[in-house]
Amino acid sequence: MAENLRILTTKLRDALAQLPYLPRALALVWAAARGWTIAWAVLLVVQGLLPVATVTLTRSLVDSLVAIMGAGGAWETIRPTLVLAGLMAGVMLVTQLLGSATGQIRTAQSELVRDHITALIHRKSIAVDLAFYDSPDYYDHLHRARIEGSYRPVALLESMGGLLQNGITLVAMGAVLIPYGPWLPFALLFSTLPAFYVVLRHNLRQHQWRLRTTADERRAWYYYWLLTAREAAAEIRLFRLGDHFQAAYQTLRRRLRGERLQLAKDQGLAELGAGFTALLVTGGAMAWMVWRALQGLASLGDLALFYQAFNQGQGLMRSLLGSVGRIYSNSLFLGNLFEFLELEPQVVDPSQPSPAPSPLKEGIRFRQVTFRYPGSERAALQDLNLTIPAGQIVAIVGPNGAGKSTLIKLLCRLYDPQAGHIELDGVDLHDLQIEELRRRITVLFQEPVHYNATVAENIGVGDLAATPSAAEIEAAAQAAGADEPIARLPQGYDTMLGKMFAGGTDLSVGEWQRVALARAFLRQAPIVVLDEPTGAMDSWAEANWLRRFRRLASGRTGMIITHRFTTAMYADIIHVMHDGRIVESGNHHELLAQGGRYAQSWTAQMQGANQND
Ligand code: ATP
Repeated sequence: MAENLRILTTKLRDALAQLPYLPRALALVWAAARGWTIAWAVLLVVQGLLPVATVTLTRSLVDSLVAIMGAGGAWETIRPTLVLAGLMAGVMLVTQLLGSATGQIRTAQSELVRDHITALIHRKSIAVDLAFYDSPDYYDHLHRARIEGSYRPVALLESMGGLLQNGITLVAMGAVLIPYGPWLPFALLFSTLPAFYVVLRHNLRQHQWRLRTTADERRAWYYYWLLTAREAAAEIRLFRLGDHFQAAYQTLRRRLRGERLQLAKDQGLAELGAGFTALLVTGGAMAWMVWRALQGLASLGDLALFYQAFNQGQGLMRSLLGSVGRIYSNSLFLGNLFEFLELEPQVVDPSQPSPAPSPLKEGIRFRQVTFRYPGSERAALQDLNLTIPAGQIVAIVGPNGAGKSTLIKLLCRLYDPQAGHIELDGVDLHDLQIEELRRRITVLFQEPVHYNATVAENIGVGDLAATPSAAEIEAAAQAAGADEPIARLPQGYDTMLGKMFAGGTDLSVGEWQRVALARAFLRQAPIVVLDEPTGAMDSWAEANWLRRFRRLASGRTGMIITHRFTTAMYADIIHVMHDGRIVESGNHHELLAQGGRYAQSWTAQMQGANQND
């Protein structure tokens, strides 16, 4: 008993803890669909009162039918009956009409709310730090916000609507019942309490189960994606991975399904018990009323009204409590959405930003920079010092995992280092407005996005704010060496790229790389950062491209990350990175003369190249 009481109080406490989400959820709905929400509320109140009109009319109708029979069918008794029947038909018609109008209003309202919430989720996804994408916890949050956020507020609204409408009807029905016995409304309440407890308990258990299984659900989604995505299709076939991933998916789904069915079974049993109690109370109340009718204390019309009112009242009470349960459950799940919307970026603007240096006079400096990725023990950069003089081209070379791409991410403030400073002309990046900083940098990332859009759009998104002209897009394509492959496409710059939409054409990896490079070049930023720009280029294209790049970058500050020494050798300064530090610096000839890592790797690469010839 004490244990049950403790469980109940814990549940009540949990339920109350969710209440603050209710006003927020309603504010969301209000912000998204004000007019529709008002119309919806008015209709609900009217619909809440209609059933009471129906039962009251039923009583009068039955009583007047009895009167007709008593008077042997006299016209004076028939006429009021006809009026009553007409009224009854009118109420039924209005009920139908309002039902259909509510359906339409709800559709408009739910579509608006859904789009509003999706927009909030999108805005937050864009605003959060890149670091969030490194954490599985973030994906759990996002997954829940995406799945639950899209329909829970509308479901919440529906349950609140149910609560309002049924509440009004119930209070009116209670008032109708009181003359027959003041205890009847309490009997109604008592008969539905077990069902209420069952609903609350089930909702809480279901919510806890969903929280526990989010990661598993995401994994199942991941297998689903692998089995159906274009990116994986070739390997899935070649390595015959289809059965493997399908089996993994099914194993996970089987477990999740089993747990879910078990929850449903438990709920079903509990509902059965609750329903039995309700039946007993109805039976008792009806027996009492029949006894009264037999005693001549109630008319047939009273009996009809009582049956309808009590029976409907019980149904209403159950759905009312069901609504309370659903409100509880929906607000539990909405907690997920609000938790997601509350994620705050750590990489933020300074309160008093310094003006960004323009043009760049001294250059970029990394001073004693140490950086670890979130959740990682190992430092990707360790006490790193690096200078990139303004107007020069610097190449960064080094083995895989040395930390080269990490430099770019820190320079763009996609992450902040744990120690040290990064400066533009002596101004710390922390003192610059993030947008100002990013506008001054253009980047070709190692894995650029392949936009399923036209060639012109793929390049144009490099600087949407400048609304680039066709000539500017073509100039960028030329500088990137993308003009030749584009000329071979069926509709040139208007060719749709990617295979996601009708009429799309795909490009080779190297061609995609050049289109992305054109995108980076389109933005007239003073700092140009290129991660492996020649990685997918053949050696003829590479030499040709490098000459053009030097011309294009003249007057700008360039940073090229590359594994190819034939690319690096054209830079003004080459920095060699190893284990998160710069270990050698100089131009090509100086580094060869030093005889260090660069010289050794150069010799090895050249020998390899000669053997291949
Ligand atoms: P490559 O030549 O292969 O592109 P790189 O020199 O550009 O390598 P970085 O991508 O900068 O290397 O990675 C440096 C180190 O940081 C690597 O050890 C890598 O495992 C680690 N790392 C990179 N990204 C993350 C991340 N998001 N979370 C945790 N560790 C990361």
